[in-house]
Amino acid sequence: MQNSVSEFLRLRQDADDGLLLRLLSEEPQDDTALYEAADAVRRTWYGDAVYLRGLIEFTNYCKNDCYYCGIRHGNTRAQRYRLTADEILDCAAEGYRLGYRTFVLQGGEDPYYTDERLCEIVSALHREHPDCAVTLSVGEKPRESYQAYFDAGARRYLLRHETADAAHYGRLHPASMSLENRKRCLFDLKEIGYQVGSGFMIGSPYQTPECLLRDIRFLQQLCPDMIGVGPYLTHPDTPFAGMPSGDLKRGLRILSMLRLLFPKALIPATTAFGTVAPDGRELALKAGANVVMPNLSPVRVRKLYSLYENKICTGEEAAECRGCLERRIASAGYQAVTSVGDPAGSAR
Ligand code: SAH
Repeated sequence: MQNSVSEFLRLRQDADDGLLLRLLSEEPQDDTALYEAADAVRRTWYGDAVYLRGLIEFTNYCKNDCYYCGIRHGNTRAQRYRLTADEILDCAAEGYRLGYRTFVLQGGEDPYYTDERLCEIVSALHREHPDCAVTLSVGEKPRESYQAYFDAGARRYLLRHETADAAHYGRLHPASMSLENRKRCLFDLKEIGYQVGSGFMIGSPYQTPECLLRDIRFLQQLCPDMIGVGPYLTHPDTPFAGMPSGDLKRGLRILSMLRLLFPKALIPATTAFGTVAPDGRELALKAGANVVMPNLSPVRVRKLYSLYENKICTGEEAAECRGCLERRIASAGYQAVTSVGDPAGSAR
């Protein structure tokens, strides 16, 4: 991509539909100038800091049936697990020793974790680690539930919108789910006062450049604090088993575009990037990402949280994972930092 386009995006922090569609449709060739512009912007706001978030995948039970996801309810081959409150607290204690100051509880939509149970876990985490941020990523809930978790001490919530094109949403999810409800959840979360993370998969089945344009426009409307994207990766035990996975270069291009359009956003170098290529997370950092989410889940359950095939980091203990990530971050030219890592003001 030409230097002039990267410069234009950097200065304007926006573009018209025509330019965005062109960038989203063409086959990425050499995007070095784009990555460099994105890196310059992240350095303006965040220097060389990369924030660490300890991820606890606490249940792979799910009542939903998203067609792309390996832990969908309909996947009878998935071996299911749940962590007890004590196991979750132990993971967090280990994470605290390793220097993490944000804990992300992520899981399928598991009815076992009623609001009451989840609130108890959130308050216990908050009580034991008052200097840490508790992030939840447990899917679509009524507003009252989000409020209850907030009152219990949760301050951040990750809920990718997955696709902002209603027809595309309908091809990725069963009729019981809707883009409208997903959006309602995101706006409720914002209104309650959460720092909100949203995002989408890159290269999901039936995605078109127009879908991606809608994703960008929706994010501009939502103004999230965090934007999580990563290549779609196919899972053999889903209805999309035969579909191709997303592509690294397209993923990196979109990640850089997001950094230029949302200069202050927290953007993770996701596990999905590390799964499509061995150095995928390092490349994502160099293309504008500034967060990594090391896995804190007990090793015995790691492989079972199988959203897609060949997910990385399923064999190591938390401490090994920490060391490995720190080296990877340094090799990319950045520094792992252990502060709570709030966004540098609103995302835009
Ligand atoms: N139940 C929670 C957490 C979902 S898992 C929720 O609904 O938010 C976290 C993210 O993994 C999803 O939002 C989705 O974007 C991503 N994901 C799921 N299956 C995937 C796949 N096959 N390839 C790539 N990413 C996937």
